Amino acid sequence: MEETGTERRRLVVIGGGIAGSLLAKSLQFHADVTFIDPKEYFEITWASLRTMVEPSFGERSVINHRDYFTNGRIVTSTAIGITETEVLTADDRSIAYDYLVIATGHRDPVPKTRMERLDQYQAENQKIKSAQSVLIVGGGPTGVELAGEIAVDFPEKQVTLVHSGSRLLEFIGPKASDKTLQWLTSKRVNVKLEQKVDLNSITNNNDTKTYHTSAGETIRADCHFLCTGKPLGSEWLEDTILKNILDGQGRLMVDEYLRVKGRKNIFAIGDITDIPEIKQGYLAQKHASVAAENLKLLMATGKERKMSTYKPGSTTALVSLGRRDAVAQFPFTTISGIVPGMIKSRDLFVGKTRKQRGLQPH
Ligand SMILES: Cc1cc2nc3c(=O)[nH]c(=O)nc-3n(C[C@H](O)[C@H](O)[C@H](O)COP(=O)(O)OP(=O)(O)OC[C@H]3O[C@@H](n4cnc5c(N)ncnc54)[C@H](O)[C@@H]3O)c2cc1C
Repeated sequence: MEETGTERRRLVVIGGGIAGSLLAKSLQFHADVTFIDPKEYFEITWASLRTMVEPSFGERSVINHRDYFTNGRIVTSTAIGITETEVLTADDRSIAYDYLVIATGHRDPVPKTRMERLDQYQAENQKIKSAQSVLIVGGGPTGVELAGEIAVDFPEKQVTLVHSGSRLLEFIGPKASDKTLQWLTSKRVNVKLEQKVDLNSITNNNDTKTYHTSAGETIRADCHFLCTGKPLGSEWLEDTILKNILDGQGRLMVDEYLRVKGRKNIFAIGDITDIPEIKQGYLAQKHASVAAENLKLLMATGKERKMSTYKPGSTTALVSLGRRDAVAQFPFTTISGIVPGMIKSRDLFVGKTRKQRGLQPH
């Protein structure tokens, strides 16, 4: 691989989530880009729970890759291997690269096309609407935000949230957990901590189901939603040239320039990295910006010395609680209610995230 020259470098980006989409968009006119993702669209993850209660929200938050990535090749497939020079995909392609970016964050078995995804939201919405009682399994950000959306939009429904941990939102501090529990309880959500739902022993009686928990409790609900977090998208790397660069949790070790440790032409960004910080999309986007700048520099000049460094992010996190409220953890304080809600909960940063990809906010 030559470091400098006039011909366009071949850049392969694996993963079309929060980080990969921004990076591919940023570099599409600076390199010969191939963008690999198993689905044809990018989805703003933090809008997904609102879309379950209001499916039309997905019109803006589920975006075809082609709408913002207009200048490059899209391969709708899964990466299954990497050699020193090529990426191998599940549909039997070998795609040569000079530079590679791995952004495979989390695996999520979602449909391939945008239309199918929007239909899936319609079906989930019907499931919520036709239920009188809903069980949510998992008290991380997904379970909490879904409970908040249902409790606010459908206050007549009985919502139960079961979480295996001793507090909600364990990825942030206990103050945020307490405030979230108080808010959910005030909205009549029945929160059960330190127990697991046995999904293999559900019994049906007419339209209602009976669920059993590890604490010996029974819960009656018309339906349930599994919100227990998605597996990391790094398993496929275990048989590749990067297998020794995965840490104990399956995360790719990176240097301060966001290059995979020991590699000059392979970067990793987003949740897949071992950067010591909470795994958040706004940080994944910062990784994308730093890696994009470094790649531009390397591709244009080969001058490694001038690359920008990435410093681990702060502990800020915002979890929405329905349409008006939120709980926010900042470095020096944690607050909840309408003030943090004004920052996130109305539009869920959808307009902002679209603008970052060069699209109309509405
Ligand atoms: C409900 C919820 C709410 C959240 N709210 C917020 C919030 O308010 N603010 C915030 O900053 N963050 C939030 N987050 C966290 C944020 O979504 C993640 O940090 C972010 O998605 C990480 O981006 P990523 O690009 O690393 O990974 P992902 O967004 O997970 O994208 C990974 C992509 O890689 C693809 N992929 C996986 N394996 C392969 C493969 N082998 N080959 C090709 N492609 C592959 C996947 O299909 C996917 O497109 C929230 C998360 C959830 C679930």
